[in-house]
Parts: sequence; C-alpha cells; structure tokens
Amino acid sequence: MKVLKDKILKEGKVLSDTVLKVDSFLNHQIDPAFALDLGKELAARFEDNSITKILTVEASGIAVAMATGLALNVPVVFAKKKRAATADPNVFSSTIYSFTKDESVDIYVNSRFLHPSDNVLLVDDFLAQGEALRGMVDIVQQSGASLAGAGIIIEKVFQGGGRALRDSGVRIETLAPIASLAGGKISFS
Ligand code: 5GP
Repeated sequence: MKVLKDKILKEGKVLSDTVLKVDSFLNHQIDPAFALDLGKELAARFEDNSITKILTVEASGIAVAMATGLALNVPVVFAKKKRAATADPNVFSSTIYSFTKDESVDIYVNSRFLHPSDNVLLVDDFLAQGEALRGMVDIVQQSGASLAGAGIIIEKVFQGGGRALRDSGVRIETLAPIASLAGGKISFS
C-alpha cells in the first residue's frame, strides 16, 4: 500500500536493526482518517471470506482492528493482557513472548466472545517474530472457531514470524512488508 509506505518513510523512526517506531500515526498518536483507510484496505483483502469477527491484542492493534471491523461490519474483540488466566474456565488464553519488551505475557479472551460458528480475522499493527499472532491462533483454536487469516499493517519479514505462520497454513496479508531496517534504512520487500 503505497500511501502507507510513504508515511512510514516520512514519519517512521528506526530505533535499532529490529525496531521501527511509528508512534506519530499508528500506535501512540493515531491518525483516525488514515487508520480508517488501513482498515478498508485490510477489509477489501478479506471481503469474500465471510468474516464474522475480528480479533486483535490490546492495545496497539485496537485502532486498525476497529477500522477493519467497521469496514466489514463485524464485531471486534481484543485479547486482554496480564492476568493469571489459565485457571479461569470462562476464558481462552495463551502465553506470548514480546521481544520488544523482553517479557512473556498472558493474553486472554472471554469465551462469550468467540464461538465455534465464528470465522475470525486476526488483525495487528506489527508482525515480527509472530508470537502475538501465534497466541491469537491458539485462542481461536481453543474456541473452535474457524480462522480466515491475518491482516497486518507492517510486517518485518526479516524476523521470520510471518514465514513460520504461513508455513503452518495461516493466510497473512500485509500492507507494508519490510525487508530490512539495517543501518537505520527502511527497505520494503
Ligand atoms: P511479534 O509477536 O510478531 O514478535 O511482535 C508483534 C507485536 O510486537 C505487535 O503487536 C507490536 O505491538 C509489537 N512490535 C513488534 N515489532 C515492533 C516494532 O518494530 N515497533 C513497534 N512499535 N512495535 C512492534
């Protein structure tokens, strides 16, 4: 998506060879009109897939997930973080490792919000090592729902998470795939 790539080049800050900051429009300050356009683009890629629900993880996935849900006219569920979730029979939960924060965190979704009849689209702002997506796939499987795929705004392809998930059969659509951040330079694939 050219307009997204241009915005990343203009406003993105490369913090290291693996971390890109896009907090001026995506995950700290949000550009609402732009977020709606991102959601429309993700929705367009899955418009023929009879999606019934969007699933993301709080907090940074929520804006684009809501935009996608608005475009597809379906509810948006966000997995919550940091709760000793495994003992509660009313939640689906998974543990994911965040390489940006260097910590493991439990994510959970109340079982009222995902059903075997659902066809779920996962949405997130970034795909790096694939842990957040893997945790969401795990939760969808626990619920018995179908998984239509994942829509990602920025995929750092060089971190390999996308390849592993695609190899396991998950359809992933990415609006801005990044091949490298080496030397502070953003290169798209
Ligand atoms: P993964 O679980 O795929 O390793 O990482 C995905 C999650 O980590 C995303 O939900 C996102 O919040 C965060 N993340 C990963 N890489 C970056 C990055 O380069 N910049 C920012 N701002 N967040 C990132």
